[in-house]
Amino acid sequence: MAGYFRPNIEAMTGYVPGEQLAQPGIIKLNTNENPYPPSPRVLSAIRAALNASLRLYPEPLSDTLRSAAASVYGVRRENILAGNGSDELLSIIMRCFVGPADRVAMPVPTYSLYDTLITIQDGQRVTFDYAPDFSLPEQLFCEKAAVTFLCNPNSPSGTLVGLEQIDKLARSISGILVVDEAYVDFAESEGASALPLIARLPNLIVLRTFSKSFSLAGMRIGLAFGAEEVIAGMYKVKDSYNLNRLSAVAATAALNDLPWMTRNVRRVQKARSRLSAGLRELGYQVFPSHANFVLAKINGSNLAPVYEALKAQKMLVRYFDVPELRDSLRISVGTPAEVSRLLEALQQIHEGRAAEPFDAAAQGKGDPA
Ligand code: PMP
Repeated sequence: MAGYFRPNIEAMTGYVPGEQLAQPGIIKLNTNENPYPPSPRVLSAIRAALNASLRLYPEPLSDTLRSAAASVYGVRRENILAGNGSDELLSIIMRCFVGPADRVAMPVPTYSLYDTLITIQDGQRVTFDYAPDFSLPEQLFCEKAAVTFLCNPNSPSGTLVGLEQIDKLARSISGILVVDEAYVDFAESEGASALPLIARLPNLIVLRTFSKSFSLAGMRIGLAFGAEEVIAGMYKVKDSYNLNRLSAVAATAALNDLPWMTRNVRRVQKARSRLSAGLRELGYQVFPSHANFVLAKINGSNLAPVYEALKAQKMLVRYFDVPELRDSLRISVGTPAEVSRLLEALQQIHEGRAAEPFDAAAQGKGDPA
């Protein structure tokens, strides 16, 4: 197909999502899904919506869902845009604010889809390394980018930046600040969300998803929050009927059963503590996580063999084959039973009782990281 594509598309590799294996018996801890099902109210709302009305287009602006979200989150409906997953909202943001050669800044490592979207727009990627403790790099505050991304809590580290930093960042930069809060419901303390700041920061967009805390990754629903003028501009760019009927119904029902979500969040937080402690006992450095996953690191080792050994036992975790993350595994928090199985398997692998023992010292030699 050479010659037909724009050169940037021709040259790019494309975003590689985590493996979605459907084999029975797999323990799937690689794409940060919720280990618990969605609320029964969501399932019955979807069943009730499965009727002849599917022949009709959905509400173009997802008004019913936005009204429910406005009352839950204490904003006006005009401050909200609903999307087909927050990935679609990220794509709308890029199409709104980033043209060829425009700068897009972010601290790294972070969610790698941002890179893919920058390449599609032919934008210019400007990155600054997080400090070793994942605090924000100072240079980010001085960068004049069209868009600045801050994933908070960050993926893959799970770490959280405080609101006063976000406030300062939004006021220091000239362009749009996107705070991607896909995981914020799992934060250790209340009040981690930047949502209250949209009332006074005209360049702030906050993104939420129903894929994680609400257990609805399969339905593809996200929300963008921002100043009325910013949201109104984004409406011009979205597809006419971007959210399907069943997803809008599911998200509305999920918002009407918040206790279900918060109960599951608490279970995940409890399992996260045990997973983090267990990994530390096995010699991993584990960053304090405010998400439904942890980043576990053995400095200077290449953990690909550990990832493979877990996979051989039908346990999927996320290994990022890039120099700065080869010594780390990102592990989603599963049920208590899944956490136990994972920790047992890792113990075997590190003690050399698995088929392929892992020697961290040997792996470290000659590693490009
Ligand atoms: N942002 C981050 C940081 C994510 O990890 C993900 C999930 N991969 C998304 C956004 C996209 O979520 P959604 O399922 O809503 O598209």
